[in-house]
Amino acid sequence: MKRIAIRRFPIQAVLVWAAALVVVPMPFTAIPWATLGPMYRSMLTPITAGIYAYIWMLECVWLGCRPRWLDRIIGLPGIYVLHGVLGTGALALVVYHQYVLPSFGPAKTTGEIAFWTLVGIVALALVMMAGWLDTLVPPLATVRSWLERVFRHEFTVWLHRIVLVAVVLACLHFNLVFYIKDLTAFIVTMDVTTGLVLAWYAWVKLRDRMFAARGKVVSARRVSNDIVEILVDCPAMHSWEYGDFVFLRLPRERGMHGSHPFSIANLPGEHGDAMRFAVRINGDFTERLYRTARAGMRVDVIGPFGMYERFIARHDAHAPIVVYAGGVGITPIIPTIMALSGTNRPVTVMYTAKRADDLLYADELRKWSASEAHTPHMQVGRWSKTELAEQITDGAIYLIAGPSGMIRDVRRMLLRHGVPGSRMFYEPFTR
Ligand SMILES: Cc1cc2nc3c(=O)[nH]c(=O)nc-3n(C[C@H](O)[C@H](O)[C@H](O)COP(=O)(O)OP(=O)(O)OC[C@H]3O[C@@H](n4cnc5c(N)ncnc54)[C@H](O)[C@@H]3O)c2cc1C
Repeated sequence: MKRIAIRRFPIQAVLVWAAALVVVPMPFTAIPWATLGPMYRSMLTPITAGIYAYIWMLECVWLGCRPRWLDRIIGLPGIYVLHGVLGTGALALVVYHQYVLPSFGPAKTTGEIAFWTLVGIVALALVMMAGWLDTLVPPLATVRSWLERVFRHEFTVWLHRIVLVAVVLACLHFNLVFYIKDLTAFIVTMDVTTGLVLAWYAWVKLRDRMFAARGKVVSARRVSNDIVEILVDCPAMHSWEYGDFVFLRLPRERGMHGSHPFSIANLPGEHGDAMRFAVRINGDFTERLYRTARAGMRVDVIGPFGMYERFIARHDAHAPIVVYAGGVGITPIIPTIMALSGTNRPVTVMYTAKRADDLLYADELRKWSASEAHTPHMQVGRWSKTELAEQITDGAIYLIAGPSGMIRDVRRMLLRHGVPGSRMFYEPFTR
C-alpha cells in the first residue's frame, strides 16, 4: 500500500499530507487525553474528532495564505487540493462530533452556528471551486454555470472567507463547554494558536495588498482575438525560477483589484527586468486585461510561486523530458525548455492549440529545435491518444500544462501506460 502511494505521489507530498492530516493536530489532543476527569473519559473520541476538525479548519486558514515554502514542495494546485480535503474532512468530523456530543446554552448556540456556517462554505466551495466534482457528478456543472452568474469566481473566493467566522464561533464554543473550559493548558494552547493563525492571515492579506512588488506595463500586444501579451517591468522582482508564476493585480483599474495567477513566459534578464505574460480571456479579469492593457498601467506582483525547476531537479539530470502543452499552457514551458537548451538533454514538446493564432511562441520553439536533442511537435487541434502515447520514453519525466480537462486526459493516458504519478508534473490553469 505504502509503495503504491509513494509510486503515484512524490514522497514529499505524502509527508506533507501526513503532517497536515495527522501529525499537526495530534499534540492538541494530548492535553484532554492526559487531564480530562474520569466522568468525561467516555467522550474522548468525539472530543478528539472536534479538536481534529478545528485544527484542520485553522490549517485551511493558514493554507489560504499560500505559504511560499509549501508551494515549492507540493505546488499551489497541491495546496488547493489539501485545503479542500481538510475543509471537507473537518465538516465530516464536526457532523460526528455534534451528533455524539450534545452541548447546552451558549456553547450549543455557538457550536451550531459554526456548524451551519461550515456546511455553507464547504457546499459553496465544492460546487463552485472544486473542479473534480463536476466530472464525477455532471449535473453539478449545470448548477455551477447557472450559479456563476451571481457567484463569480472572485466573489466565491471572497465569500468562502466566512470560514473565519466559523473558526471564531467554534473557538467560542469550546471556551464555553463546561468540562473543557477548566482544562486551562488546553484552552490557552488552542486560543493562542487561533490568535496566531488569524493574525498571520490578516498580516499576509495586508502585506499582499499594501506591500506587493510594484510593476508597470511596458508594452501590450494583442496576439490573437483572445490572447494579449504584456511585458511588465518590475525591478523589485528580478529573479525567479523557470516555469514560475506570479499573482497580478491592477490596483488602479476598475474591477481588477483581485489577484490572479499567470506564468512568467521568459527567463530572468531576457527582457531587462521585465516579465513576459501571455493572457487568454477566461472570465472578467482576463477579459478586462485583454481590452484595456496598455503601456504605463500599474501592476502589483505577488510571488513568485511554482515548482517546475524543483520538480526537474528532483529527477536524474539526464532523464528525457516529454512536454504536453495545450494553448496558453505553453507559457511556463518556454522558459523551462530555454533554460535546459544548453544541456543536450532530450526534450520533446507536444504542443496543440485550438486555432493557428493561438500557437504561441512557435518561432521560438522552431529556433530552440535547432539542437538535435530537441523535438517540438505543434499542431492545430488535439493529438490522438496514439500520438500522445508514442512519446512515452523509458526513464522520462513528463510536464503537462494547459486546461484541467487536457491535464486529466493526458495523466490518465500516462497512468494507463504505467508511468508513475511521481514522474509527472502538472499545473492546471483553470478547472
Ligand atoms: C499556476 C497558474 C498559472 C496560470 N498561468 C496563466 C497564463 O500564463 N496565461 C493565462 O492566460 N492564464 C493563466 N492561468 C489561468 C488564469 O489565472 C485564469 O484564467 C484567470 O485567473 C481567470 O480569471 P478571470 O477573472 O478572467 O476569470 P474567472 O471567471 O474569475 O475565473 C475563471 C476560472 O479561472 C480560474 N481562476 C480564477 N482566479 C483564480 C485564482 N486566483 N487562482 C487560481 N485559479 C483561478 C478558476 O478555475 C476559475 O473558474 C494560470 C492559472 C494558474 C493556476
